[in-house]
Amino acid sequence: MLVSMKSLLDHADENTYAVMAMNSINIEMVRAGIEAATEERSPIIIQMGPGQIAKHAHLDAIVPVVRALAEKAPVPIALNLDHGARLEDEVRAIQEGFTNVMIDASSLPFEENVQRTRTVVTLAHPKGVSVEAELGHVGQAAAGDGRTDDMYTDVAQACEFVERTGCDALAVAIGTAHGTYPKGYVPKLDFNRLAELKRALQMPLVLHGGSGSGEENLKAAVAGGINKINVCTDAFQAAKEGMLALLSENPAADFLALQMAAEASIKAFVKKYLHIIGSNDRYTYAAFDSGSKE
Ligand SMILES: [Zn+2]
Repeated sequence: MLVSMKSLLDHADENTYAVMAMNSINIEMVRAGIEAATEERSPIIIQMGPGQIAKHAHLDAIVPVVRALAEKAPVPIALNLDHGARLEDEVRAIQEGFTNVMIDASSLPFEENVQRTRTVVTLAHPKGVSVEAELGHVGQAAAGDGRTDDMYTDVAQACEFVERTGCDALAVAIGTAHGTYPKGYVPKLDFNRLAELKRALQMPLVLHGGSGSGEENLKAAVAGGINKINVCTDAFQAAKEGMLALLSENPAADFLALQMAAEASIKAFVKKYLHIIGSNDRYTYAAFDSGSKE
């Protein structure tokens, strides 16, 4: 079923686990994510960013796909706009039935980030749509941004930000970066900062740039209070590896076989990931018949 992202993250917060938020740009990704979550009795968040929407995952086509597959699923699914920046994108997503929107104004000065986030909260909450915001700077791995610790989220500022904006979840900068890290580089996360943020905020926290962080970092982040982990690069990579493996085995494989190989590879990746972040077995099918959760 399609539910608000806030309800997923509050449950994760109360029970110290994280929900995977996978950027999904076509039916194969959406179906792989939802099937994996169903088999693992786990929640999952399907999300896409404005660039992915503009290039490929056009909302008039992809939203009905997500809705149809989510509504049949016996586990809770949220649909999130990832890294929304323009107000028109936020409004469109709310109108289309997204159950959460992220507003990323983290590259702007603090006051402007507060104002923009507040505006989106004002538009989203009356429609039952929750809001994720970002404070601090999660850089781009390719630019080496992951190592600039002066960009980490400030605890006092985060408290003021949440108080003034009323956002439901906060993406924090603790040392990860978006995209692919240089070969062999494992980011060093600031778990002390994470602990301070969690203690002060007592709300769902989000890790962006989860791809390539390594299993140990992910587990420690979840133990430290991260409740949503964004995964884009690693999921795309799983899809590509599925196709490459089939092609190396059978260069004559046709397009249908390649799509199916990609989907199977993503699904296997997601199932493994759900165990790493501890969201497996959080829901039973029986519990859903009565609409309650465990
Ligand atoms: Zn991000």
